[in-house]
Amino acid sequence: MTSTSSQPLNILIVGAGVAGLEAALALRELGGERVATRILAPEHEFVYRPMTVREPFGYTVARRYPLEQIARDLDAELLSDSFKWLDAPERVVHTESGGRLAYDALLLALGARQYPRYPHALTIDDQRLDELLHGLIQDIEGEYVHSLAFVIPSGHAWPLPAYELALMTAARAYDSSAELEITIITPEDAPLAIFGRDASEGIERLLEENGITTITSAHCEVPGPGRVTISRGARQIEVDRVIALPELHGPSVSGVPSGAHGGFIPVDMHCKVRGLECVYAAGDATDFAIKHGGIASQQADTAAQAIAAFAGLATEPAPFHPVIQGILLTGGKPRYLSAHVTGGHGSSSFIGDAPTWTPPSKIAAKYLAPYLDELDTVAESSA
Ligand SMILES: Cc1cc2nc3c(=O)[nH]c(=O)nc-3n(C[C@H](O)[C@H](O)[C@H](O)COP(=O)(O)OP(=O)(O)OC[C@H]3O[C@@H](n4cnc5c(N)ncnc54)[C@H](O)[C@@H]3O)c2cc1C
Repeated sequence: MTSTSSQPLNILIVGAGVAGLEAALALRELGGERVATRILAPEHEFVYRPMTVREPFGYTVARRYPLEQIARDLDAELLSDSFKWLDAPERVVHTESGGRLAYDALLLALGARQYPRYPHALTIDDQRLDELLHGLIQDIEGEYVHSLAFVIPSGHAWPLPAYELALMTAARAYDSSAELEITIITPEDAPLAIFGRDASEGIERLLEENGITTITSAHCEVPGPGRVTISRGARQIEVDRVIALPELHGPSVSGVPSGAHGGFIPVDMHCKVRGLECVYAAGDATDFAIKHGGIASQQADTAAQAIAAFAGLATEPAPFHPVIQGILLTGGKPRYLSAHVTGGHGSSSFIGDAPTWTPPSKIAAKYLAPYLDELDTVAESSA
């Protein structure tokens, strides 16, 4: 179906995270004045989440960008409110404060909900990583803590930060001559398996060089403080502290379909929500198995193309062909990783000391990465 109206297409984007902002930038590029974009989000700034892993180690805090400024740059209207429910037949979004927002095309970029999976572990929350982990790093330096386990829960998670935190902690312990044993326990078949075999093998070597033990294909429980049982008790390890990634769930919002596993929004290859007209979704909220900012942006670009085609502004939209790109922070020189993702597996796997994409940002995003790069350059030159 294609829109035939001569009015600008009224697009509502819900969420101002990676997927929401990438989609807004893509739509401005593809649609120009033929689209009128509004962004609905409760917060006032965009936080560059991948850099929060450095905060407990005393590096500068992750960058924050005011959404007001971003919306102005994009000629978009920013609405500070929250999505409550969708009336798809009427093409109206209802907000928490009682607002009714009509749309021609809707993009849901609501992100994932994160929940602690293990009550006896310290669960990572990127909104307060420094507060959660700073004391632990001090205890390691002071030789009060001698062993740590980083646990990645089964189901959906962001695995990259667990490896980064483990490597940076190992580097810090080494620098302060503290004795520390680190174990990563993961349901993945191999470390960061989604980046494909070559990258995974490279990471395995890096972990070994840093004295980090990895237990793979491990589905575990944390029955008490410092105790991890693997594969229904077949193996048990005891450590001073257990740090876990949160488990991710979909947004499960009223009026929007949610898949059987975890409440994620089911989308087709053009990121159109299955079963709804003129509604698209992108990012961690969708039922695509890999939760990663670069993937969220590619989905946003795919959805933006489909919306532009619907508005008659673009020709045949390209389907989603995911390529995963990531920078692994290590406490020393970073590693650049990439792979094509086919059938849930990484192929054409790459690991190296130099990036294969530009700008070489942690979140590889066609429009958002250069845009933020420019904001950073302006901020640095005026500092
Ligand atoms: C510590 C850490 C490190 C990471 N490192 C990397 C990395 O190196 N590289 C990488 O590519 N990815 C990384 N990721 C993953 C990446 O941050 C996410 O995959 C990405 O943020 C997903 O983008 P998104 O737009 O789907 O969701 P989010 O960025 O979470 O944005 C969701 C948006 O939806 C809004 N929202 C939620 N509910 C509502 C509502 N009811 N109404 C209106 N708005 C709502 C939120 O306020 C937010 O604006 C990392 C994640 C973490 C936590």
